[in-house]
Amino acid sequence: MREARVRTMDGGRPRASAFFVERGRFVAVGEAGEAEAAARGAEARGAAVRVFDAGGRTITPGLIDAHVHAGLAADRSLELSLRGTRTRAEALALVARAHAALPAGEWLVGSGQRAVEWDEPADRAALDRVAPGRAVYLAGYDAHGAWVSSSALARAGVTRATPDPPGGTIGRDPTGEPDGRLQEGAMTLVRAVVPPADRARRDRALATFLRGAAGRGVTAIHDFEEPATWSRLLALRDAGELAVRVWFGFMLGGLTGEQGGLADLPAPGTIAAVEDERVRAFALKGVLDGALGSRTAHLLEPYAGGTDRGLCTLDAAGVSAQADEARRRGYSLALHAIGDAASRAALDHFASWPRAERERLRPRVEHAQLVDPTDLPRFAALGVVVSMQPQHAVADRPLARALWGERDERGGFAWAQLLATGAVLAFGSDAPVEALDPRAGLHAAVTGGDPEAHARGDRPARAISLDAAFAAYTTGAAFAARSENEVGRIAPGLRADFVAWDDDPWAVPVERLPALTVFATYVGGSAVV
Ligand SMILES: [Zn+2]
Repeated sequence: MREARVRTMDGGRPRASAFFVERGRFVAVGEAGEAEAAARGAEARGAAVRVFDAGGRTITPGLIDAHVHAGLAADRSLELSLRGTRTRAEALALVARAHAALPAGEWLVGSGQRAVEWDEPADRAALDRVAPGRAVYLAGYDAHGAWVSSSALARAGVTRATPDPPGGTIGRDPTGEPDGRLQEGAMTLVRAVVPPADRARRDRALATFLRGAAGRGVTAIHDFEEPATWSRLLALRDAGELAVRVWFGFMLGGLTGEQGGLADLPAPGTIAAVEDERVRAFALKGVLDGALGSRTAHLLEPYAGGTDRGLCTLDAAGVSAQADEARRRGYSLALHAIGDAASRAALDHFASWPRAERERLRPRVEHAQLVDPTDLPRFAALGVVVSMQPQHAVADRPLARALWGERDERGGFAWAQLLATGAVLAFGSDAPVEALDPRAGLHAAVTGGDPEAHARGDRPARAISLDAAFAAYTTGAAFAARSENEVGRIAPGLRADFVAWDDDPWAVPVERLPALTVFATYVGGSAVV
């Protein structure tokens, strides 16, 4: 590759104009003469060399999204989407239309509503009115709550006599009848009886979803899923259908409703036998609390104007059991923690690991949306990776202000403060909660989660440089998966995962970052887009 403006993200040589790739890896990175010399050497060994002219385009390492639920996102692409609806009436209109188009007796499954922002309750009575007799299951935008109809509750056998499951709440009316609102672990009660979509259709949707990510500059994801998705990914890899690398983390409970436990994990030998560069299992994920929007994030002090402090979905003994399993298998442990109490619990737990073990396995906290100021320096001090999603800060801004009050300013979405303490940041999208689109994440990060204020000329306290944001999507995310010597930089010896951008991300006005277009994305030296 020549005639390129290469941003290598490699401290030793941050800029280059040409590189040479052989057998899927960079072997020379520098100026045209250095790449040509390497190419001549390869030709002398009998290799066929091709020359690409980047036409002055900017080339960066491929972006790594450090927090994705790809299987869930793909499944949702096959279901009714309520994303973007602003009121209950808007959501119900879409439900009514979908109901009219479905044969009698079939489940109506969908997701994406932001019921927490509505004036009216997301209860079963509303669904029963627009879709009479229909079993309806609608997962909320953050996947921490669901809205279901009377028929759905009946098919699942959920009645007033059903107790709340561990780590979940069945919403009830004043008489004690389930009202159609399910939180966290209670979602599973209904989700478990919804028949899954056709496997081949789901697999096609998964491959399409990953190819779409490559079109936005992504070359690898950290994918947190229930154990069943692992074998589907392996099958896609064998069929040559995986456009990007997938570093896999086994979810232990939560999110999808298909709750997995330690008992569901494949045996360690099975995993080791199938590790390769395209698919690799690297982590277990435990869930310490809920989410901001459903007021289930676990807080040290009550939500603004209330007395509740959210949910602790995994106690210290539960965390220790998961950590023992992760360490036994040589996996990282990723702990979902959104509230400041959950972040503290995660840090307290990781502090109990020997330092060498933390250095080896790279434990991480997922989200860290609210961190008590006294805990901010502990991530760097302990060597715990902070896996954050800048797009959340934009979408959840009004909610964070309303529910956390002034805590939001001190430790909400505190990636800038965390960077200042020396913590390693890994950025991601949490797709399908937000779009798997690092361009939107870069924009959110450099505008401090407040694009409007930034456009007015303010510099929000959370704003960070584009270099720092790119680092969180490349070197930081690679480090978090113990892949920093494989990907994340354009440097000799690393795998040739890179993106050629039509416009220079460093030269366009900040507001145009979300609209950057990708000229080509390469994974292991091969163009995938
Ligand atoms: Zn997630």
